[in-house]
Amino acid sequence: MLKGVKNFFQYCWKLQKSYILLLLVGEICQVIMAICGIIFPKYIINMLFEEQQVPKTILFIILFLISLLLCNFGQALSRYFAEKSRDQMYCKFSIFYAGHILDGDYQNMEDPEYMDLKEKALKCMNSYGFAGIIFLSASLVGKVLLVLSTAIVVITLDIWILLLFFCLILINIRINNYIERKNAKLGLEEVPEKRKEEYIYQLGNEVQFGKEIRVYGLCNWALKQYREQFQAVHSFTKRKNSNTCIAGIVGSFVLFFQQCIIYGYLVYQVFQERLSIGAFTMYLSAVFTFYMAVTEMFKIIGKLQQPAIYFKSFEEFINYPKREAPKTKECGSALLTRMEYSIRFEHVWFCYPGQEKYTLEDISFEVKPGEHIAIIGDNGAGKSTMVKLLTRLYIPDKGKILLNGRDIWSFSLEEYRKIFAVVLQDFQLFAMTIRENIALAESGAIEESKLKQAAEAVGLMDKINSLNKGFDTPLFKVFDEGGIELSGGEAQKVALARALIKNGKIMVLDEPTAALDPRAEYRMYQDFSKLMDGKTSIFISHRLASCQICDRILVLQHGKIVESGTHKQLLAAGGYYAKLFQIQSSWYQGEVG
Ligand code: ADP
Repeated sequence: MLKGVKNFFQYCWKLQKSYILLLLVGEICQVIMAICGIIFPKYIINMLFEEQQVPKTILFIILFLISLLLCNFGQALSRYFAEKSRDQMYCKFSIFYAGHILDGDYQNMEDPEYMDLKEKALKCMNSYGFAGIIFLSASLVGKVLLVLSTAIVVITLDIWILLLFFCLILINIRINNYIERKNAKLGLEEVPEKRKEEYIYQLGNEVQFGKEIRVYGLCNWALKQYREQFQAVHSFTKRKNSNTCIAGIVGSFVLFFQQCIIYGYLVYQVFQERLSIGAFTMYLSAVFTFYMAVTEMFKIIGKLQQPAIYFKSFEEFINYPKREAPKTKECGSALLTRMEYSIRFEHVWFCYPGQEKYTLEDISFEVKPGEHIAIIGDNGAGKSTMVKLLTRLYIPDKGKILLNGRDIWSFSLEEYRKIFAVVLQDFQLFAMTIRENIALAESGAIEESKLKQAAEAVGLMDKINSLNKGFDTPLFKVFDEGGIELSGGEAQKVALARALIKNGKIMVLDEPTAALDPRAEYRMYQDFSKLMDGKTSIFISHRLASCQICDRILVLQHGKIVESGTHKQLLAAGGYYAKLFQIQSSWYQGEVG
């Protein structure tokens, strides 16, 4: 536990030193106050009732009050500034945590172990609050100081009383710690169930599930799933509560026993005239402060076991291995200054994590600078997977992908991604304005003329002109009642405009026209070479007619390239492509006929 807390402390020390220091000042003030509260009354009572020296008594009372005032003031000030500092630390930590998630491997998001760890790491913040752990640790320092100083007073009474109390407290604490540890473990075991519960809860809460749930009449089904999952999570809560209850009962018995002993002992000493009334008050107060301080001290140690366990998860999460290929020398910005790019897949094999079969098997092909390549194939053939490998969302298990002859994993990721303009098959629009959706991170700086040019090129201007707020119309109604929903085709145009405005030097379009109406699709193909503007491009489509605009076509089947050539060559070869083309064209002819 100590190691966990120590690492945690070091971590927070780096983030916000002032928070720790201010808390310690507050604790020291509190200890001084408690000691004054034990010592001063003894002298005041003795002077007043036994020595009857009024001026001396008044002087002591004034000294006592001044020390209390100063300590109270010091404590209040340090708490006030500590709270301010805590907010800053919380903000820094939250940004660090969010940044770490955003910067993490995409592949990790499909890894349940990573997702559980992410939640467990978050518990480090949520159990007592990230800052709360520091607060507890600072209180621990305060309690240790208080225990030591009260122990010195109690020893002057009887060392055996001190030892007896210590033993009783230890028994109590061991039980407490055992239960805290048990509860912390239950807290971690609960995470996968909790994640599932939250997911099911989202089914009823998130707009994207709303239509499916209603159209398929899934309300009762979802409710049943939620009830079951809620019960699974609740069973953990019940177990934790009953553990805490047992600890509480044991604690009450021990406290009762201790009080009997100390009252009996002190009253006996007074009757024997071994103690003055002032000393009686002092010892009574010292023994109870000692008792409270030791109990608090061990309670805090117990409480710190939970965050220490969570902090282990936090560390594991922060250090979760990145699935990067061994790096060779980085090319940095030299990459961006190039004008032409070639891509080569060299015997690439890839299997999704947790799957048994390879999705891609021994894929080799080259796209020359400025060449337009089409990839076609059945659903599930592995086309989008090739895009994911090319955009470095995944790493090939075997083989290499080369950009201008260099392994793509040897470039800095940021620079590498800058040269791509990608329209993913499952692109996402965000609950922001159309302008922000097209220009994304550049939205503050983008020129209106460029925005219009991109929207014009994909046939989106008519829609924009029909909207009162034009490009500044918000999408979706998450934050704005005036937000609009785009049709599938319009959304795809936004995604295409996004790729155009990025002006990447390599275009990757995964089913870019799947949702467009025939007129918009026709227009897009007409403008294709203008849009591609001599850029190296990879174009995935189901519509074979559209592949004719490309220089070369690759046919993918069950993760393997089975044919390659121009439209004419593939038709003449009479293979799989020719067969597909025949099916598609006869379908259209049949429809027309
Ligand atoms: P295509 O784009 O040719 O339709 P994909 O590349 O999307 O095909 O998928 C190829 C195969 O890989 C499919 O069988 C699909 O089920 C599987 N697959 C895709 N993504 C994942 C994933 N994240 N995890 C496991 N299997 C996946």
